[in-house]
Amino acid sequence: MRWDSQRADGAGQATLPGVGEFVRTVRTPEFSGLVFHEIRARSVLNRVPGRSTVPFQWTVNPYRGCSHACRYCFARNTHTYLDLDAGHDFDTQVIVKVNAAERLAAQLRSPTWKREHVAMGTNTDPYQRAEGRYALMPGIVSALGRSGTPFSILTKGTVLSRDISLLADIGKDVSVGLGVSIALIDRDLQRDVEPGTPSPQARLELVRRVREAGLPCGVFVAPVLPGLTDSVAQLDQLLAAIADAGATGVTVLPLHLRPGTREWFAEWLRYAHPELVADYRQLYGKGSYVDRGYRRLLAARVGPLMRRHGLDSRTGRDATVETETGDAESSWPIGSLPDVAPQDAVIHEEQLTLL
Ligand code: SF4
Repeated sequence: MRWDSQRADGAGQATLPGVGEFVRTVRTPEFSGLVFHEIRARSVLNRVPGRSTVPFQWTVNPYRGCSHACRYCFARNTHTYLDLDAGHDFDTQVIVKVNAAERLAAQLRSPTWKREHVAMGTNTDPYQRAEGRYALMPGIVSALGRSGTPFSILTKGTVLSRDISLLADIGKDVSVGLGVSIALIDRDLQRDVEPGTPSPQARLELVRRVREAGLPCGVFVAPVLPGLTDSVAQLDQLLAAIADAGATGVTVLPLHLRPGTREWFAEWLRYAHPELVADYRQLYGKGSYVDRGYRRLLAARVGPLMRRHGLDSRTGRDATVETETGDAESSWPIGSLPDVAPQDAVIHEEQLTLL
């Protein structure tokens, strides 16, 4: 199915298998370059597959695709399930579940709902640019709060600042975990590798504002890009800024390159940093996860810096913050960077192509 062929012209609504009912496609001058495909989702409360090792069972993702457009985004391949591509389409063609709040509220009223933790930002960013137009999150977090359901949000989006006071109110009744992703601090590299995101400084300011509102706020330094953001000086500068912003915990994770992401990232690397291609081939081989030696090296670099900036003693207070891409590495705190790849790392091996 090509989404552009869908129309809300009264000739009957298309039903999208596994997704919901198509409403309309929207292009608007305020969001130049983006296409929003509005749908009415059948379900917005998703159970995490049993084989996953993430520390939560339920997720909510009001959007599919993400205008933050990170070259390294793990979620890219999920767009191919919708007959859209994992590259430019993922960045520019965003599926919007316009009924997310009402559908979630209905699902949370089910007598079988046990009020388990719900994680948001596990596939795509709930505070990406589209949220400025659709404002789905206030209804979603209010529904979770009213139902007594604890939740967490991980984001790069400063649109979240709009909802801080609402989140602080809800946080009086249920556990609310907030996390901000800040992978690097160099503005030029950020523009290149995360072209749709707010600046690192704007995200540090978001951390500060969340903390001033009395809410916990962890930071994910993820992903660390080998040869690009992993020097001691770079990590030192970033961790110092995160400590200064008042983060309540930090998790540092190296880059993973899964199918879909791998091809898209490799294309960028060949163009932007051809001198690093051979190193990446060696580090990632045919797998999705960087080799064990690199993980050890990164842990050895980061540990002393965490202590220097007083972040080691803060980590652990915000256990409700998870990765925005729903991977099993989410719960590994710094100081215990994983020596063993997550159990699902082997699933895609046969599909991989070399960089
Ligand atoms: S990594 Fe997160 S913020 Fe970046 S494109 Fe993917 S979902 Fe969006």
